Amino acid sequence: KKWTGVEIRQTFIDFFVQRGHTFVPSSSLVPGGDQTLLFTNAGMVQFKDVFLGTDHRPYSRAVNSQKCMRVAGKHNDLDDVGRDDTHHTFFEMLGNWSFGDYYKKEAIAWAWELLTQVYQLDPARLYATCFKDEKGDIPTDEEAAEVWRSQPNFNPEHVLFFGRKDNFWEMADTGPCGPCSEIHIDRGPEACDKKGVPGHVCRVNGDCKRFLEIWNLVFIQYNRLSPTELEPLPQRHVDTGMGFERLVSLLQGVSSNYRTDLLWPLLQKTQELTGHTDAEREANITPYRVIADHARAATFLIADGVVPGNTGRNYVCRMIIRRAARFGGKIGLKEPFLAKVAEVVIQNYGDFYPELVRNRTAILDGITREEERFQRTLESGMKELQESLDGLKGKGEKILDGKKAFDLYATHGLPLELTRDIAQEQGLDVDQQGFRDAMEEHRLASGAGKAFGPLGGEDVDLYRPALESLQAEGKLGKAGVEYNPYEW
Ligand code: ATP
Ligand code: MG
Ligand code: MG
Ligand code: MG
Repeated sequence: KKWTGVEIRQTFIDFFVQRGHTFVPSSSLVPGGDQTLLFTNAGMVQFKDVFLGTDHRPYSRAVNSQKCMRVAGKHNDLDDVGRDDTHHTFFEMLGNWSFGDYYKKEAIAWAWELLTQVYQLDPARLYATCFKDEKGDIPTDEEAAEVWRSQPNFNPEHVLFFGRKDNFWEMADTGPCGPCSEIHIDRGPEACDKKGVPGHVCRVNGDCKRFLEIWNLVFIQYNRLSPTELEPLPQRHVDTGMGFERLVSLLQGVSSNYRTDLLWPLLQKTQELTGHTDAEREANITPYRVIADHARAATFLIADGVVPGNTGRNYVCRMIIRRAARFGGKIGLKEPFLAKVAEVVIQNYGDFYPELVRNRTAILDGITREEERFQRTLESGMKELQESLDGLKGKGEKILDGKKAFDLYATHGLPLELTRDIAQEQGLDVDQQGFRDAMEEHRLASGAGKAFGPLGGEDVDLYRPALESLQAEGKLGKAGVEYNPYEW
């Protein structure tokens, strides 16, 4: 079968609706009623209070496709975007949910049925990871492992155990948590991009492209009281998240998310604008990927009301548009062009995400105006940056001063991430903490308040209000919640 991305998303939703789940539309990229999390970064964000028992829904099973952004806080994938085929700033996470309803047996059996029977992935290529505590404090998730081994055509040797980093999910220092089980696919020895590297072994959760993580099934069954105390929860929950673009790449038989019908049309539009041959496009594949990723992210951000600006979420929107614009410049696109790419996003995603169509004018104008603003200062900014970098090289130094980087932003509108891109292209780097310190100092001096606090962007922050109310009700221990307002 030839699947379109649209069919793959709808098939996921229908599969779980047929099994008693309520379809819940994606929540906004801006977490509702939460001043502390920068962006929605997983499907569970809109359900966190349900897990904590402070919110109740009229359903106990849900399915959704959630808009996510991972460009801040604990989950910041920006450095990988464009350099690999599987991490985006904006992406969609497909999820099914049980709020005190079904548990491991059903969650695993349905995931297996959907992947192997409906989507027809080859069972022999699939692996399941389960939790085994390297510290030996928390019980091994033999329950999940047994359920996996009993699935039809599942190779029992494909259950692998991993420790806390990969297979134990905690929302904070205290509160609901539990083991998870992840599904990975073996894309075959040809997919390895580390062939011939001495000592390299292809493995699940390893460092080459052969094994790809696709789906995370989280089983929430404990309440953490302290670093050493867990108690079983009265109600157990399931929270799953599958990378939609990765699933589509598998079902469409392509080696990269960018080759799917979700993102390829954006690269094609860009190629049409540059007039490149296919060989020229491939020689410049990183700019092409970054432009596609960032144009899509900016389109979804503006549709959710996040317009380009100077701080917090708005800074991120500004940064990704300017970053895409600079990559455009590298492949000969000197005039504003991103709106043309954004039009393709609206065209391809507008049916499922009608906010894109509703906000079409704001999106296209917002992007173009931001590119124009950037163009006005780009040349002078680049010149000054290059002088600074040359100065560093002359002195045999490697790190550009954070204050200098901030001056380039304040006077020439060069975002930190962009200055860093350019420095790194020349084997140098930027003092990022110094940039943030200088920005805080500037804002405090100008009476504008903190630039980055309290936009923390950490899971801890996301749960803090809920945890505090639980603590106030005496339902949670006193263990404090760690909170770093400057991490973003
Ligand atoms: P990875 O190890 O590949 O970075 P993860 O373990 O950080 O993924 P999870 O937090 O488990 O990801 O999220 C659930 C799923 O979402 C992943 O299994 C993956 O398919 C997808 N996913 C995670 N991050 C991204 C991203 N930046 N872009 C696209 N898909 C992603
Ligand atoms: Mg990750
Ligand atoms: Mg992972
Ligand atoms: Mg994961």
